[in-house]
Amino acid sequence: MPSIKPHSGYHFDLSGGALCLDFANTVSHRHLPQRRAEHLDSYADLVAFADQSKLLPPKLAASLRARANRDPAGTRSAFRKSIVLRESLYRAFTAIAAGKHARPADVRQINDFALAALQHRKLAQTNGDYRWEWRSNGSDLLDRILWPIAESAAELLTSEDRAAVRECRAPDCEWLFLDHSRNRSRRWCDMKSCGNRQKARRHYQRAHA
Ligand SMILES: [Zn+2]
Repeated sequence: MPSIKPHSGYHFDLSGGALCLDFANTVSHRHLPQRRAEHLDSYADLVAFADQSKLLPPKLAASLRARANRDPAGTRSAFRKSIVLRESLYRAFTAIAAGKHARPADVRQINDFALAALQHRKLAQTNGDYRWEWRSNGSDLLDRILWPIAESAAELLTSEDRAAVRECRAPDCEWLFLDHSRNRSRRWCDMKSCGNRQKARRHYQRAHA
């Protein structure tokens, strides 16, 4: 019997355009208490998110799951940290999407995670090819998923793309995305879900006005 709760089977929506925004979008209907759905319920969900986002080689995802089963206390702590990071990301980028400044406490939090991630960067060389890799000393392996997410957040905060962060305009959705449309007029996190739903709603309202 595994000691960690199994993955809920949720298929993560990865339409944010940046890893850190996809991660912030792992709660649905955040502001509607009856419909709020938490998609990160356990460390196994976190591994599933990393797996679906292609953050990890498949072998590493399997060893993280095995490690999580062996180390429930470490897993709980890594999972708690992931939620702290996610909430800071959500607050900071929601503020930015609204044209405001992120709160200093959230920026500090993201900075702490990004610094921890930097300490695990390693320049690797294979046959004249060079690339950044993530290096773990073993004891911090359970945090491995958070490093690329924190790096993505620091990169987005410091890039011009920051001005393209938007919050979905559907009233029951508050997901974040990067608007790379030509005239910067994208309104929905995902045309297939929120976009079509909003169009249908407007059509219905017009037809029944
Ligand atoms: Zn949406």
